[in-house]
Amino acid sequence: MKVFHGKSVFSGTAIGIIQVYKKGGQQVRRIQVEDTGCEVNRYRQATQTAKEQLKKLYEKSVKEVGEANAAIFEIHQVMLEDVDFQDSIENMICTQSVNAEYAVAQTADNFAQMFSAMEDDYMRERAADVKDISERLLSVLHGTGKANMDTAGPAIIIADDLAPSETVQLDKDMVLSFVTVHGSLNSHTAILARTMGIPALVCAPLPLDDSIDGKYAAVDGTNGVIYIEPDKETLERMRKKQEEEQKRAELLLTLKGKENITLDGHKIMLYANIGSMKDMAAVLENDAEGIGLFRSEFIYLQNDRFPTEEEQFAIYRSVAQTMAGKRVIIRTLDIGADKSCDYFQLDKEENPAMGLRAIRICLTRPRILKTQLRALYRASAFGKIAIMYPMITSLTEIRKIKEIAAQVKEELDTQGIRYNEPEQGIMIETPAAVMISDLLAEEVDFFSIGTNDLTQYALAVDRQNMALDEFYDPHHPAVLRMISMVVENAHKAGIRTGICGELGADTSLTKEFLAMGVDELSVSPGSILPIRQIVRNTDIGAYRAKLEAGC
Ligand code: PEP
Ligand code: MG
Repeated sequence: MKVFHGKSVFSGTAIGIIQVYKKGGQQVRRIQVEDTGCEVNRYRQATQTAKEQLKKLYEKSVKEVGEANAAIFEIHQVMLEDVDFQDSIENMICTQSVNAEYAVAQTADNFAQMFSAMEDDYMRERAADVKDISERLLSVLHGTGKANMDTAGPAIIIADDLAPSETVQLDKDMVLSFVTVHGSLNSHTAILARTMGIPALVCAPLPLDDSIDGKYAAVDGTNGVIYIEPDKETLERMRKKQEEEQKRAELLLTLKGKENITLDGHKIMLYANIGSMKDMAAVLENDAEGIGLFRSEFIYLQNDRFPTEEEQFAIYRSVAQTMAGKRVIIRTLDIGADKSCDYFQLDKEENPAMGLRAIRICLTRPRILKTQLRALYRASAFGKIAIMYPMITSLTEIRKIKEIAAQVKEELDTQGIRYNEPEQGIMIETPAAVMISDLLAEEVDFFSIGTNDLTQYALAVDRQNMALDEFYDPHHPAVLRMISMVVENAHKAGIRTGICGELGADTSLTKEFLAMGVDELSVSPGSILPIRQIVRNTDIGAYRAKLEAGC
């Protein structure tokens, strides 16, 4: 048995086979082949496997996100069988005597270029789909990456590090746990792991080679340990732990459908944080009362070009409709820092966390914000959408946002496009916003405290730097006092305040937050029921009295 220690991102136990995750972005080399017939066969078999993967993905997606959203996987199956596409690949293999990988990559490039040059919006968007199916084919041909995860059974994924965009593309049903050699506890990848509700570790110094690939292992997410080829005693202990966790999870399920109301009658809003439509199944399963933070930047991160208004509209409408009248707070894009997107063509910065990110990009390039706001306003006609702006530091920013929103509404009015009036809120995640929260509260409909960034900026600790993890302390009295101050200022102005940073899910603080008067907690879907249990067992009045008495 080999034991490696890492840092726990999400608790829970996973037992299964390890799969070492090889990075996407397939390297394709041109290789001269003699037996072209054999290459054509390899290509045809890869097409068959890719189609089977897509069929499974379609069936799974229909269940999780509905038929309309799953349709893309049907389109991909049809594209794989496109006669021109197939002919071009087979022709290239036979006439140039090249390997299947090269022919697939070349043909896909040619087709993608052809689609990109088309006038019609719909056809232009097909360029990304060609790229997608060619990557799938290449994965199958290489026997690596995403395709591997689709075909192998559920596995413990081990990787050097995972970018947020890679994490969102993991097939949740195929991931028992993930463990990375690098990565920080506060990175967006870690946040996604919590959203997926699976045991995960970062900073585990594992060798990423055959010495662990395919080996049986147990991950103890609670204590941050992975056991490779665990001995009998360890395996038994881990199995017992897993059974206890399952029993607890079943108990928590008895809380489904119950109100988030304290013993002394205070109603708390318990919402979910999501990064994409894929998380909606977990939102519904865990009985969230609404969405408190939809990190819309993931729509941008999953693309290799700006998502169009139509694409965004379809996603926002779908979330609003799925939540069927419950509140959905969608945050405008928070690109920058660790969430980088090549096509934004942002200059390299010395200090990206303090650089051009989030609302700063939107205000310096208002076209981007306008497109997103148009999509959001249009989607507001289909549910209860609220819009939230990240990284606010000043009243001037709010005024500029309002001007842009007014222009968007005017355009929609002129075009006769209907919309509702979404609530307008801001994230409080900079010390500046905390200090002027009394003034900001007069300008907006709600606050949501982003404790991840607030901790970073208040304590001057880079949340991405794993060497600083011991200094990154969201329990620091400075952070807790800031939260309390924001709630007080919000209530004075008659608006509500939530917490949507990771601290909101810290059950050791739930009672304290309730005592401060926090109105809403927005957490990873898997944390909703444990918090509901605490809320329902708390008497806020009695707890405040206890605090005042100093016990
Ligand atoms: C936060 O900063 O707490 C937050 C919720 O936003 P993000 O983690 O996406 O920066
Ligand atoms: Mg933030």
